[in-house]
Amino acid sequence: MSRIYFDHSATTPLDPRVLDAMLPFLADTFGNASSHHAEGRKAREAVETARAQVAALLNADANEIVFTGSGTEADNLALIGAVRTSIGPDHVITSSIEHAAILETCRYLEETGVSVTHLPVDSDGLVDTLDLEAALRPDTRIVSIMAASNLVGTVQPIQELAEITNEHGALFHTDAVQAGGKIPIDVKTAAIDLLSLSAHKLHGPKGIGALFVRRGVKISPIVFGGGQERGLRSATENVAAIVGFGVAAEIARQEMDAETVRLRNLREKIVRVLAQTVPQAYVIGHPEKRLPGHLSLGFAGQEVLAGRLVQLLDEAGIAVSAGSACNAHHADKPSHVLLAMGFDAERARGLVRITLGRFNTEAEVDRFVDLLAALIGQLDPDLDWTTSAQLAGPLLAGTSA
Ligand code: PLP
Repeated sequence: MSRIYFDHSATTPLDPRVLDAMLPFLADTFGNASSHHAEGRKAREAVETARAQVAALLNADANEIVFTGSGTEADNLALIGAVRTSIGPDHVITSSIEHAAILETCRYLEETGVSVTHLPVDSDGLVDTLDLEAALRPDTRIVSIMAASNLVGTVQPIQELAEITNEHGALFHTDAVQAGGKIPIDVKTAAIDLLSLSAHKLHGPKGIGALFVRRGVKISPIVFGGGQERGLRSATENVAAIVGFGVAAEIARQEMDAETVRLRNLREKIVRVLAQTVPQAYVIGHPEKRLPGHLSLGFAGQEVLAGRLVQLLDEAGIAVSAGSACNAHHADKPSHVLLAMGFDAERARGLVRITLGRFNTEAEVDRFVDLLAALIGQLDPDLDWTTSAQLAGPLLAGTSA
């Protein structure tokens, strides 16, 4: 039986249409987009087409899109780039549930003298607009709140958070790496100044990201060289990956409405069936304000067995992830996201993340729920699998993205 992939928050398979569009740029159409000859012009044209496609996903203008080497790099560029343009000590506001790409960048900025405020979240993982109001200061340079959580799928009130930030004269950045292509984002109506995307989360290639930089917003580069991407990201453009990103963004935009309904139905079917067959299962994250294909589960009284469950599912041919941490290198630690949501240390280790994508089917969902119910019945709650040396390896394969 073929494997079932339910870990689309970690990464997504390349859509065959994206692959087809990329292939010529990995073969005969190899020009450098900065060259003036025919080969270069062809590459440039492809890069600019992709820029317009990525822009369209956000209702941005093409010249507001800067291609980067990843979502991580886009996050770094947004925060460090914004802070570097101002003179004197700065204040940055973020949330306590961000991806490491934001949290570690903030940690670096703190080392350089910037003060950072981490906003709390409620038990669903939502940031409160009143907390943002209270945290904003005259020296706040930038606020960075993720559009949707990679771990629990909760979607933040980005529009309101951006407006409040704007009224206080600070820049608003959102890490939309998980949200991009899955929920509508319109930068013409939302007061978002900077927004990060990553192609591999929307059935595009890995190693290509983008930062939306609203016209008129000044940020400094963090990579220096030949001045590509309007001087904001020097380096020879990765044309094939950029082309793939463009096509992936175009497909996501065109299919978003239908796909939202389809994925939400599949997710709700899982919840409905498990409510009957695995009554100890509970949903983590906001029940409605969440990404359509995203389901995070805990199992009351069996949280400690989450890693074991994920391993058993993997052995049975189904890839899901254990939400031990935002970073696989710290998978033995309780998740900082769940701790911020008020979970105790034991429950904060016990998340199983199921994230659906474009090629998943109802038959796969049916196979999954049957298997999960059977496996959970076999788990021994008295055995602490998390400390089993034998399982240390598989447990390290936690929620890395
Ligand atoms: N931000 C969020 C919310 C993510 O989920 C990820 C990837 O897992 C990133 C940033 C980093 O993106 P990339 O893998 O393109 O560096």
